[in-house]
Amino acid sequence: MIPPEPGGPWPCVVIGGGAAGLLAGIFASRGGAPALVLETRKSPGAKIRVSGGARCNLLPSEIAPEDFHTRGSTNVVRNVLQSWPLAEVRRFFEQELGIALKVEETGKVFPVSDDPREVVLGLLGALADAGGILVGSARVATLQRQGPDGPFEMQLEDGRIVRARRVCLATGGLSLPKTGSDGRGFLFASSLGHSILPLRPALVPLLALEPEWATLAGISLVARADVLRGDKRVDSRQGDFLFTHKGFSGPVVLDVSWHFTGETSADARLAMAWLGDGAPDWEALLSRGGRQTLGGTLREHLPRRLVHVLLARAGLEPEGALAGLSREGRKRLVRELSQCELKLAGDEGYRTAEVTDGGVPLAELRTQTLESRNVPGLHFAGEIVDVCGRIGGYNFLWAWVSGRKAGTAIASANRQ
Ligand SMILES: Cc1cc2nc3c(=O)[nH]c(=O)nc-3n(C[C@H](O)[C@H](O)[C@H](O)COP(=O)(O)OP(=O)(O)OC[C@H]3O[C@@H](n4cnc5c(N)ncnc54)[C@H](O)[C@@H]3O)c2cc1C
Repeated sequence: MIPPEPGGPWPCVVIGGGAAGLLAGIFASRGGAPALVLETRKSPGAKIRVSGGARCNLLPSEIAPEDFHTRGSTNVVRNVLQSWPLAEVRRFFEQELGIALKVEETGKVFPVSDDPREVVLGLLGALADAGGILVGSARVATLQRQGPDGPFEMQLEDGRIVRARRVCLATGGLSLPKTGSDGRGFLFASSLGHSILPLRPALVPLLALEPEWATLAGISLVARADVLRGDKRVDSRQGDFLFTHKGFSGPVVLDVSWHFTGETSADARLAMAWLGDGAPDWEALLSRGGRQTLGGTLREHLPRRLVHVLLARAGLEPEGALAGLSREGRKRLVRELSQCELKLAGDEGYRTAEVTDGGVPLAELRTQTLESRNVPGLHFAGEIVDVCGRIGGYNFLWAWVSGRKAGTAIASANRQ
């Protein structure tokens, strides 16, 4: 049930009870602007619950500017992130929410319990302690402003009306729509005069054009992914790679996937160096001659089924001896091992994408408050904004920090 208005429009209504919306609600309420958080789903934080392989990789342990992608200013992203340094975000979860955290070898931060429910419950507790209210099964259908300085009016799908002096839009993107993020927030933003930068799935598995790769479904190994445009290497990532029934996935693929979706993808190419347990100098290894077979030599470093596909692509037999390898054959094989071009047929789309690239441009927001430059009183937080991070807790970091920033700004405006 939505409680009655506290003697006039709500000082703060947050649309969306995900990572960003819960933080906005907590910090607005703590600062004296009790927040009403409206959430489509019965229970909030659906994405938190499924994230990080259902263990919730809620933070990274380090950050660098290249960990985030925006079509706007990277300085703005840096300024926002610096407003709540990583160590303090971690302290918030550990000391204020009482969630013990661990850093894994990959540098990703998880709850020690590996239980994402601990994160959702911690956030809901903090929201309630601060005087904020979360209402589930409350999907906002329309958002309007009553005059240039008047309150915002929201109509819920079931007809209920809610009014607010300030609104934080934290409705997420389009990815994994079953968690409640269906893009309605972008419609609200554009109906109030914002532009929306082209949307596309990001951190998304890619589809293979060549059917031979499907035979390797289920194989995972360490690899380096190079993104090429013409002769130039424009990006390079190393990490776990996974063959799927339809193509390619794993953190290293998800991290470079945004180069291959949307309007700029046409001239980008993906080339893999297969590393396995540490690739040797292939050229030197394959030049040493001897009676050992090609298949046997490569299998010492790479999975057997992958070795067979790579040899076939190079036009070579697994039983062929190293000594019998021609210069041309060696060149072709080294290419398959260290610059193997994967032809792509698109991506898996929003159904499996972890985030949405694009959205409300940073340039249309005030950096200090994440308030709209066009619509005073309207703030934004989380994935709805044109910022996305790489795999490893960076997207939650953006959601936590931008949510806190918007909430704190709403509270401060409420005190004036
Ligand atoms: C499978 C998967 C795994 C992931 N794993 C990780 C990970 O381990 N680490 C990481 O950093 N990131 C991860 N991400 C990305 C991360 O979950 C998102 O970046 C983050 O949740 C964005 O937070 P948000 O609050 O902006 O949006 P969301 O979490 O999408 O929340 C938006 C909320 O708004 C609600 N809403 C939308 N429209 C309305 C409306 N009209 N009225 C009311 N409510 C509305 C939705 O129901 C939803 O609850 C993962 C994503 C997916 C899909």
